[in-house]
Parts: sequence; structure tokens; C-alpha cells
Amino acid sequence: MTQKAKTGKQPHIPMRSCTGCRQSKPKKELIRVVRTPEGTVEVDDVKGKLNGRGAYVCADVSCFDQAIKKKAFDHVLKMKMTEEQANKVKDGFIARLLADQEENQR
Ligand SMILES: [Zn+2]
Repeated sequence: MTQKAKTGKQPHIPMRSCTGCRQSKPKKELIRVVRTPEGTVEVDDVKGKLNGRGAYVCADVSCFDQAIKKKAFDHVLKMKMTEEQANKVKDGFIARLLADQEENQR
């Protein structure tokens, strides 16, 4: 036991809960789905630059599907997501998952 936090600052890991499974996870392990000020819904990139109201989802398509099924996005993003929008966002979500995987393989 020689490790003592002397800085007085604990590493703070921001946690968010998944819109699909409701589990709390470190924010950076989750993918953010954003309702932009223009009213579109987009999947945020790794840098998290998109402005707008965000819903977090695990990097897992089944969580995304759960969120759609429960209409949880509507609730969190305070909007009515059409099926067309949901499908489009899902495409973006999957693309983001694949991009992340590629990133991890390097
Ligand atoms: Zn989840």
C-alpha cells in the first residue's frame, strides 16, 4: 500500500447510463446520439463535437435496438423519431462501431 493519492484529486470518470440497457458506464465507452439544433439526429464522432441534446448508448447494436424499441430516444432527446430517422441513425451507429473496431485493431 504505497500508492497514496496526494494530489487530492481523484481521477474522475464521467459516467452515463445507456439509453438501451440503462447500465451506467464510463462516458467514453458509450456512443452519443445527438439531436442537433437543426432537428436532425446524428451519431457523434469520436471527438464528441456535435452540439445538441445527447443520448448515450453502449457500443452495442442490441442496446441501440432496445432503445428504439422502448422509444427511449424519443424520451431522452425530447422528440419523435420517425422510423426512417431511426434507420438512418442506426446505419450511422453501425458505421461508428466498425470505425471504432478498426481503430482498436491498429
Ligand atoms: Zn447498453
